[in-house]
Amino acid sequence: MSEIDRNILKNKFLIEATVVLDSALHIGGGKQSFIDTDSPIVKTPDGLPYIPGSSFKGVFRATTERLASIIDGIKVCFLVDESVCLTPRRNLSEVEKEKIRRGDIEFLEKNLCDICKLFGSPYLASKIFFKDLYLEDEYSWAGITEIRDGVVIDRDSERARNRLKYNFEVIPAGARFKLRIEAENLSDKELALVGITLKEFENGFGKLGGNKTRGTGNFHIENITMRKVDFTDKTSFLAYIDKGTNGMNKVSVETIENLIYSLIENKEEKNA
Ligand SMILES: [Zn+2]
Repeated sequence: MSEIDRNILKNKFLIEATVVLDSALHIGGGKQSFIDTDSPIVKTPDGLPYIPGSSFKGVFRATTERLASIIDGIKVCFLVDESVCLTPRRNLSEVEKEKIRRGDIEFLEKNLCDICKLFGSPYLASKIFFKDLYLEDEYSWAGITEIRDGVVIDRDSERARNRLKYNFEVIPAGARFKLRIEAENLSDKELALVGITLKEFENGFGKLGGNKTRGTGNFHIENITMRKVDFTDKTSFLAYIDKGTNGMNKVSVETIENLIYSLIENKEEKNA
């Protein structure tokens, strides 16, 4: 792949779905408000709960990594295995450092693992982007947050220290958020990896946020749609210019499943 290849916009994907909380969710980091809690959740300026795109990307990447690591022919570094990737742990030669500094795409494509190439690394920008997830509408949640009690666990004894109770704010189960993922220049292999992760979440194996051991943060996704514009195809390009995202071609479930089958069976990528 030449240097120009990665920078030219060949295709763009838009994936939309609904994220449904199957248990309460705590994503901390919000400002203290009139709610009296040790750990408030993040909220919009209007005081509504939301899920930061970076949090969702984190769980999406981690899930893709775990599934990809068992598929033949996919390189996964988990950000620590310097033998398969340019991780921050790897000792780089002066020549390698220079190639990274120049943004030598050929070198990066060859040396980065498949996960870092898709989701980004300290040396290469991500090809997939996650928008912040807002409530579908005002009726798509209970309308009020809850406060849960937690206990501080003593790291040495691993026993709960009863006197050190704290509480944290959660979004109650059932809340529905809009998911919007954008991706550029995905190969069939990368599209299959994204598809596998979407299936994992569709099957209800999503886990978000802190306090994971307390049975919070379970979610599933539904109503998944995937659309694509192929900029190398004039008809596709013109339909997109004419009708915007409505002019993008729907990517069928069968198409994605076939790509996933090929990936798991380790068949040669058609456009590789
Ligand atoms: Zn990597």
